Amino acid sequence: MERSYNVIPTDSGVPIKAWTVGVPFETAAEAQLKNLAALPFIHKWIAVMPDAHQGIGATVGSVVATSGAVIPAAVGVDIGCGMMAARTSLSASQLPDALRGLRAAIEGAVPHGRTDNGGKNDRGAWRSPPPAQVAAWAELEPRYRQIVEKHPRIGRGYAIEHLGTLGTGNHFIELCLDEEDRVWVMLHSGSRGVGNRVGSYFIELAKQEMRRFFINLPDADLAYLPDGTRHFHDYMQAVSWAQDFAAVNRELMMAQVVEALRGSGELPPFDATVEAVNCHHNYVAREHHYGKDVLVTRKGAVRAQAGDLGIIPGSMGARSFIVRGLGNPESFCSSSHGAGRVMSRGEARRRFSVADHEAATAGVECRKDEDVIDETPAAYKPIDDVMRAQKDLVEIVHTLRQVVCVKG
Ligand code: 5GP
Ligand code: MN
Ligand code: MN
Repeated sequence: MERSYNVIPTDSGVPIKAWTVGVPFETAAEAQLKNLAALPFIHKWIAVMPDAHQGIGATVGSVVATSGAVIPAAVGVDIGCGMMAARTSLSASQLPDALRGLRAAIEGAVPHGRTDNGGKNDRGAWRSPPPAQVAAWAELEPRYRQIVEKHPRIGRGYAIEHLGTLGTGNHFIELCLDEEDRVWVMLHSGSRGVGNRVGSYFIELAKQEMRRFFINLPDADLAYLPDGTRHFHDYMQAVSWAQDFAAVNRELMMAQVVEALRGSGELPPFDATVEAVNCHHNYVAREHHYGKDVLVTRKGAVRAQAGDLGIIPGSMGARSFIVRGLGNPESFCSSSHGAGRVMSRGEARRRFSVADHEAATAGVECRKDEDVIDETPAAYKPIDDVMRAQKDLVEIVHTLRQVVCVKG
């Protein structure tokens, strides 16, 4: 049988298996993956998803199983970033003709955009967190206190104020229609400022450890923390906590959006929990693969064990997919987390105009201004090619197209 992935040989003998057949794949990402493959604690091989592109330290779209160490930059600073989708009982015919009001309702219910550290442009945080946030924080706080006691710097900044808030840039909230014209709410965000502090802090600690032990890495961002050390233990505690924060953040936003839609006066009463999926795409977890307990770090990848439901978004103007994992062990049971960027933000801004963006997002109630050009659909890989390249990793359960898109 023909192989569904490309094998990239490396000097270390740890191969790279890339599910990138028929999709653009940068040589810069390949070089980065080779650096990863040179580390002495990689289990089996590195799996690369079709949405792969260059990241900091580790490639976005990479799946790395390790035994005996963790690489904080392979998780990244956007710890627990992921997607949540929920199918409502609404159908397309029940939506109003003009969607501007629903978009405004969503924008009003979820703080989004830049957080200016408490300054007057601070749209991205709650001034006074609502009751649901307070209740969720009560569950999260005890572990946070333990982490901050040992590493006070992580405690300096927003935490509860960001619970149930979207963030910036690539994070989004959408109303979508599926193949049967049923309405879904879908959103993308992670652990916000506090996860960023956890990530950056431990990436720096790991770099210090490398210097302390005179370990020279091909890329300083691949600094790792060996199992059994205090920092390893503390990182695992903090990263798991930040992942939980992210999942709760998405659940809270979903509830806020549903409540706002109900209160908009533009929709009949509806049920919002017909089907729901909430999955991380930047995280580390303990899993068992090929006879060994390992840490699996997915940076821009989704778990796709047999039967797992996952979400693969396309772009502001392309289809997104609810998928079911096929449990392909060679990918460490993973799939892509999206289409993946095909060019940098700067290049997208140089190449495309507002008019191009308007054409690419025709029919979608969304931002069409200069500041969102770096997120224009053509800045991402063609999602159909990406889905074709991972046919042996996931099967499509629902195909979604957005009618409203709120960007952070
Ligand atoms: P990331 O987490 O790496 O920033 O992005 C995840 C994926 O989301 C991207 O690779 C892209 O395919 C997809 N994406 C980015 N912006 C949007 C959007 O506005 N709507 C949808 N449906 N997908 C998007
Ligand atoms: Mn994110
Ligand atoms: Mn993300």
